[in-house]
Amino acid sequence: MSDLKDTLFRKKKNAWFVSDKGEIFGFADSYKKFLRICKTERETVKFVNEYFLKNKKDREFILINKNKNLALVKLSEGSGMKIVASHIDTPRLDLKQNPLFEDSGLGLFHTHYYGGIKKYQWLNIPISLHGFLIKSGGEVVEIKIGDDISDPVFVIPDLLPHLSKKVIDEKVVKDAFDANKLNLICGSLPFSDEEKDQIKLNVLNYLQETYGIIEEDFISAEIQIVPAFEPRDVGFDRSLIGAYGQDDRICAYTSFMAFFDTTVSDKTQVVLMVDKEEIGSEGNTSAQSNFIFEIAVEILKRKGIEPSFANILAFFKESECLSADVSAAVNPMYKDVHEVDNAAYINNGVVITKFTGHGGKYSANDANTEFVAKIRDLFNKNNVVWQVAELGKVDEGGGGTIAKYISKHNIETLDCGPALISMHSPFEISSKADLYETYKAYKAFLG
Ligand code: MN
Ligand code: MN
Repeated sequence: MSDLKDTLFRKKKNAWFVSDKGEIFGFADSYKKFLRICKTERETVKFVNEYFLKNKKDREFILINKNKNLALVKLSEGSGMKIVASHIDTPRLDLKQNPLFEDSGLGLFHTHYYGGIKKYQWLNIPISLHGFLIKSGGEVVEIKIGDDISDPVFVIPDLLPHLSKKVIDEKVVKDAFDANKLNLICGSLPFSDEEKDQIKLNVLNYLQETYGIIEEDFISAEIQIVPAFEPRDVGFDRSLIGAYGQDDRICAYTSFMAFFDTTVSDKTQVVLMVDKEEIGSEGNTSAQSNFIFEIAVEILKRKGIEPSFANILAFFKESECLSADVSAAVNPMYKDVHEVDNAAYINNGVVITKFTGHGGKYSANDANTEFVAKIRDLFNKNNVVWQVAELGKVDEGGGGTIAKYISKHNIETLDCGPALISMHSPFEISSKADLYETYKAYKAFLG
């Protein structure tokens, strides 16, 4: 009987028993260094570009758009592309364009959240500021403060439990935390003992002396509010990584490492990293922008093919894509939101998701079965540990990825990435073994 079971049942594998543990831990250490440096999309573009320029080989080039999205390309004689497509923007808060005010003895910044955050997770944690301002005349002033242990940090103050009964505790969570109260403390020392605006004046005076800026410079600024803490190992066994921004920089990192560890393949290899996924892939740096055409045109030109619309369409038709984004791993305290036979578990490898979207497969890219079959065989042949999951129970909720914006160009597209616990929180949790299997999966696909 058990022989028959062995033959017929699909076996779940634990990723820790397939690859070398030393390699898994080594890869995870490099990944943590990357996360420490890259907390914004622009920082990620800069990091990947610098890495590319140091390590580039023959037939490889990079396209960068607006310093916020990019493509690494390795040309092949064969037709079509093999794309691994991730996003490098992350849920966070941004400073408003008129941010600075003072109230009740504190200097504060107004914020506007970006992407799907749980607002309470951002209260009373150390915050750093990453970004830049463009002064009148065009001079760029970078701001990166809070990560270094000697830096000051910033904080959005929560209310003490003694007084929060009516205004927070008795409300339902979605109403309890007002986005307009997510203001960041940035000072309290008055410039002089005059009555009015002295804290605001002192902050502006500091900013003038340190960065040479005035209040109006915030109008042309992009300053992101991100957690100040560093990536850390989680657990006695150090098997997990806790860090900000793993959705979706875990896929960005594994895909670009895979790119550098493969040789020229039967199709042109592309590692695509886009911006604005967390707010619906809108705008000129997103997956919905014309950047995918720009990539195709550049490849065709370099191959000596006229980049006509007909040739681009033919090129897309020959192309394949892994939409590299994270899935939700089962949190043992909230099993009920999943359907156990189609849920992702930590350490069970990279996750294949045939369709995303929500109830009734709305807004999904429902991958073509022929392509799923091909990837399944490819992963098995390359000893990649993989699992299959949907994002939660039917009608429980759901979520989308950039898959549908790639596949609409007639590119075969399948969602494939590791599963996180506490996704979209300031401290997302991944498995080092899953991280490594994700790298192996992208390498097998690109290679
Ligand atoms: Mn994502
Ligand atoms: Mn996300």
